[in-house]
Amino acid sequence: MSHAVVIGGSIAGLLAARAMLNHFDQVTLLERDCFHDGPSPRPGIPQAQHVHALLMRGHQILESFFPGLTEDLSEQGALLLDWTADWRFLTLWDWMPRHVSNLKSLICSRLLLEWYLRDRLLQMPGFNVQEAATVTGLTATDDATRITGVVLAINGEPGTLPADWIVDASGRNSKLSDWLVKLGFQRPPEITVNSFIGYASRWYQRPSEGAIEGVIVAAKPGVTRRGGVLYPVEGDRCVITLSGIEKDYPSSDEEEFLSFAQSLRDPSIANAIRGWEPISPIQCYRRTENHWRHFEKLSTLPEGIVAVGDAVCAFNPIYGQGMTAAALGASLLDSSMQHPQRQGLGLRFQKQLAQELMSPWLMATSEDFRWEMTTGDRPGWLSQQLQRYFDRVAQAANHDPSVHRAFIEVAHLAKPPTHLLRPRTAWKAITLPSTATP
Ligand SMILES: Cc1cc2nc3c(=O)[nH]c(=O)nc-3n(C[C@H](O)[C@H](O)[C@H](O)COP(=O)(O)OP(=O)(O)OC[C@H]3O[C@@H](n4cnc5c(N)ncnc54)[C@H](O)[C@@H]3O)c2cc1C
Repeated sequence: MSHAVVIGGSIAGLLAARAMLNHFDQVTLLERDCFHDGPSPRPGIPQAQHVHALLMRGHQILESFFPGLTEDLSEQGALLLDWTADWRFLTLWDWMPRHVSNLKSLICSRLLLEWYLRDRLLQMPGFNVQEAATVTGLTATDDATRITGVVLAINGEPGTLPADWIVDASGRNSKLSDWLVKLGFQRPPEITVNSFIGYASRWYQRPSEGAIEGVIVAAKPGVTRRGGVLYPVEGDRCVITLSGIEKDYPSSDEEEFLSFAQSLRDPSIANAIRGWEPISPIQCYRRTENHWRHFEKLSTLPEGIVAVGDAVCAFNPIYGQGMTAAALGASLLDSSMQHPQRQGLGLRFQKQLAQELMSPWLMATSEDFRWEMTTGDRPGWLSQQLQRYFDRVAQAANHDPSVHRAFIEVAHLAKPPTHLLRPRTAWKAITLPSTATP
């Protein structure tokens, strides 16, 4: 009987467990928290109350892992919104044009999505969940060349759990690097890029009649550090997330929250929520730096372990990439596990994952370096030139629906950045009259 263990029961862990079920008889998901019946918050995922946009690529992968997901969640009130028709998006330059493109993804709360994925997995043979299980280390062969299981405490009771493969999906605070060092391996190099962005979010009941649209108002260097999102979710509700870069943090004070919304580049979010009934307290969050643990740069990794999701690479959440990056990791894990030769799979997997993560990383960190306070390793000369070009594409997108379409496809990781180098898009971008780059 083959057995895989996944550490962490959030989005990356659930998707990795789904992938591993294609290759192992038994998959055990170990989660520190206890789960509730139904979509509800828990301590291990404090970010879940904030806007969680699922990018198109992430949605495609989720649907392929869980056929029928879109239909099921739509029945539960999730929305399928067209990113060029149903969203009002004030970019650095202008409002994006609105036109029907059918570039859609599923819009729902992070709480509903996580609960649904867990529920679907629980219906699959071979899947087990162990709640209140905190993993504290790894067990290995005497020569430490292969991981053989995990050290854990279940409801405080110490023990071990043997496994053929382990997936670390324990998020930003993963201790995998420490555990590897303890076994005699090197610590993977880490890089952090921080633009010091903070979130404050509140849920509202929205009117059930009328057209449903989302609103995104971006911050703009030299104008304001403040941005906001109006994000409709199931149950005729709406998450309002306000964000401030360079430590211009929004607060949990009611008056300040409203005046922060009023101070954005456009007042439509403040105007929309005027008169809406708040149904949650205001929650703040500031742990938002981009952080990459480069496991792929190690010369060796023991057999039998891989890492996915935020445990490898956590992004500034403003670009909505985290869940989709977790989905890309799970999809890659699925294809990697199909390989008949699993010797060396761990390091091979981390190298391939690093390639997948490069585009979202460069997109996020290049954007963050528009802000003077941002700390960390600046993307290289080539990336800076590419960003200049992509800025022109983004401006052209403000005037041309086909460029807008291409821009959304790349931002949603549904197409590679080279998609924006196609002749028609390039022509539109290059012939655009010059405007100052923020
Ligand atoms: C404010 C905010 C907003 C965000 N917005 C978006 C967005 O719009 N779109 C998007 O795609 N992404 C967004 N993200 C990112 C997204 O939340 C994550 O990328 C995504 O959830 C994948 O995370 P993960 O599963 O790797 O880790 P996490 O979600 O952090 O989960 C880790 C899990 O592991 C458990 N755990 C930790 N240590 C142990 C242990 N030792 N033993 C057992 N269990 C353990 C934790 O309890 C938790 O359940 C946002 C993040 C933040 C902070």
